[in-house]
Amino acid sequence: MARPCYARGEVATVQELQEKLRRPLAAELAGGCQNRVVAGGIEKLLASPLGNPFPKVREALSGYAAMDTAARAEALQAALKLLSGDPKAKASSRPAKVAAKTAPPQATAGERLPPDAPLERLDTGLGGTRKLASLGLHTLRDVLHAYPHRHEDRRALPDLSQVQEGQKVTVEGTVISKHRRTPKPNMLIIEITLETPSGGRVKATWFNQPWIERQLREGAKLVLTGRVKKFGSRVQLGVEHLETVEGAGESLSTGRIVGVYDSKDGISQEFLRRSAFRALQAVPLGDYLPVHWRQKYAITDLADALWGIHFPHDEAHLQRANARLRFDEYLFLELRMLLQGEDAVLQGKRFEARGEDINKFEGALPFRFTNAQRRVLLEITDDMRSDRQMARLVQGDVGSGKTAVAACALYLAVRDGYQGALMAPTEILARQHYQNLTGYLGQLDVRVGLLIGAMTPKQKLEMQTRIAEGDVDVVVGTQALIQDNVQFDHLGLAVVDEEHRFGVQQRRKLLTSRPDVLVMSATPIPRSLALTAYGDLELSIIDELPPGRTPIETKLIQDNYRTQAYGFVMKQIREGRQAYVVTSLIEENENLELLAATQLADDLKTILPEARIDLLHGKMSAAEKDYVMERFRQREFDILVSTTVIEVGVDVPNATVMVIENAERFGLAQLHQLRGRVGRGSAQSYCVLIAGEHSKKTRQRLKIIEGSTDGFVIAEADLKLRGPGELRGTRQSGIPDLRLADLANDTEIIEQARELAKHILANDPRLEHPRLQYLRSELQNRSQSVAFREVI
Ligand code: ADP
Ligand code: MG
Repeated sequence: MARPCYARGEVATVQELQEKLRRPLAAELAGGCQNRVVAGGIEKLLASPLGNPFPKVREALSGYAAMDTAARAEALQAALKLLSGDPKAKASSRPAKVAAKTAPPQATAGERLPPDAPLERLDTGLGGTRKLASLGLHTLRDVLHAYPHRHEDRRALPDLSQVQEGQKVTVEGTVISKHRRTPKPNMLIIEITLETPSGGRVKATWFNQPWIERQLREGAKLVLTGRVKKFGSRVQLGVEHLETVEGAGESLSTGRIVGVYDSKDGISQEFLRRSAFRALQAVPLGDYLPVHWRQKYAITDLADALWGIHFPHDEAHLQRANARLRFDEYLFLELRMLLQGEDAVLQGKRFEARGEDINKFEGALPFRFTNAQRRVLLEITDDMRSDRQMARLVQGDVGSGKTAVAACALYLAVRDGYQGALMAPTEILARQHYQNLTGYLGQLDVRVGLLIGAMTPKQKLEMQTRIAEGDVDVVVGTQALIQDNVQFDHLGLAVVDEEHRFGVQQRRKLLTSRPDVLVMSATPIPRSLALTAYGDLELSIIDELPPGRTPIETKLIQDNYRTQAYGFVMKQIREGRQAYVVTSLIEENENLELLAATQLADDLKTILPEARIDLLHGKMSAAEKDYVMERFRQREFDILVSTTVIEVGVDVPNATVMVIENAERFGLAQLHQLRGRVGRGSAQSYCVLIAGEHSKKTRQRLKIIEGSTDGFVIAEADLKLRGPGELRGTRQSGIPDLRLADLANDTEIIEQARELAKHILANDPRLEHPRLQYLRSELQNRSQSVAFREVI
């Protein structure tokens, strides 16, 4: 390895000594004041010969180990000021007249600013405030919470003689030469040679990126990240990330684990780091979570966390910073949900829900409850017996027995003298539920009624009257049930099927008469997602199918085997079975989708001339869809070609094959839902996934469906496979901004945060206690986010 090209003098100047001491102190400050940057601690450093020439610095930092983080930061700043050769520090000691010209006043080292202070108070350099504003950052708080989206380890820079072809490396150095060429009129090639401090050389080339040229001047200090290409001993870098570092930014951008921020053209990483650093220095980072809670959940304090997310001194620091900040995100989310769902913790109905009635219900069933059903039923009856209004989500795969459990709960409500209601998203599902409930409850002398739009006005009026007069015990219906002219006599329990089809508003409407509410969903979403998406609901999961089910056989095939696949479908039809064939387009365009489905149906009529084929699509009215489904159920035709509108759970027990064309275009949850349409009877059922062109990653996804029929396993695997990047899309489902959230792995943290949120509100439902003042104002600050307002 080449030696530095100049030799240092033997005798250190005062400046050099200052610098030697300044560096570790600055690193300590940047590292969050953990007293871990220097081996043996800060005080030991100052007791060493290095500290001798600087008694004042020693004094400023005496007792360092015993100080809390904020006091340490202050002491370090004071010490650094003493050591500083920084012209800015001098500037601040200039006569007041000069300083007065540079309004607004800026934070000098050591000055404390409130987190909602505007950014002008932070000395971020020319145009700094404007730059930050263009990134949506307007206060110091915004800057503190604009976390890096990733971190780069720049502690040990690679030895250039050792790097491998294709290896990803970060190098820093000085531009020692630059060549620009325009071999053709529209082509610009800029090539530079970078020399690292140890004398290694790297070449890097940019094509047609004139805007970068400014940063590549000779003498500029750069940090480049990219992949290595080797030409003999020459190292060329395919640059993916370029940073210019200068002056103060150097210690923040090199030789450490460095955060990389969301930015845009013209706003450098170095600038963002410097802004974050100044904000961390300026804002007193008092913690809104008292120490006993932090201890209970083993989370670090806020100052440590914020320093650690921006300037971690090692991986462990970054990790605990991340854990704490994630905890906070979930905590505030849960607090918001619980405060919002205030209705949900209010007085509800109080049922007796007698054990003997449960036995009576089960005794009338042709089967016994599974353990999972029994457990969920216990959770429900606990809620029913308490004064609080029940707000519970029961999740379980299609066919896991949710409806049977809900029927039991409705029976208990009726036995306690209340009415019950069951709402379904479509008329055909309402009818299906009506049949099921009549089956479960009719024999137990419960009067079950149906109220749907398709009934005649006279029939509707009659049912409404019976509901109002308490002449019917359980009513099944669609949205029609929550229309204003439906008055229940004494509604006690409302069951809502397939929550996601209803808006939150609609749920609230049902809640106005304050019945207990049970929501059933067959959409298998991972527990973490359920906890956040339905934060105001308690969660019960039926994770076991009733015994004796034959699992659906799933086969993933490539589309050149399509004809064989349909041969198999025909075989099933000859045996008297029916089949679904589903198709989809990438774009959600109903016209195109209809066209695709129509073409597919025509195509199948050619391949399978004997089969009776009909079509279902999204452009049909609800009544038309119901009509087609009813005919399919009556076996009036063999193959139902459909767009994805059949997703919602209609039972056709005789349908045993589900073919999904272009399976690569569907999400896993959707594939699982579609597959759930078959296997509703006793016969062996099949699902055939026909995949067109697709990537390796897509194949992995489809393999998950082929390999498992457990909705929760699939949902978890899907979440893991998609990775946190795409999870940001969870915002669409109404989850407020979770910046650090990793829903695939955060279940435990979410549950802890939820527990703490509940505990806090149980003792102080409106966060009024003075001790919770900081927590409350932090909640308010976070609630300003647009996403949150959308949720309400
Ligand atoms: P889900 O509402 O979750 O789709 P259902 O309650 O409709 O499930 O049950 C699906 C089918 O399984 C129904 O035919 C039901 O009678 C039956 N079933 C429910 N629970 C059991 C059980 N414990 N043992 C056997 N069969 C059951
Ligand atoms: Mg059901």
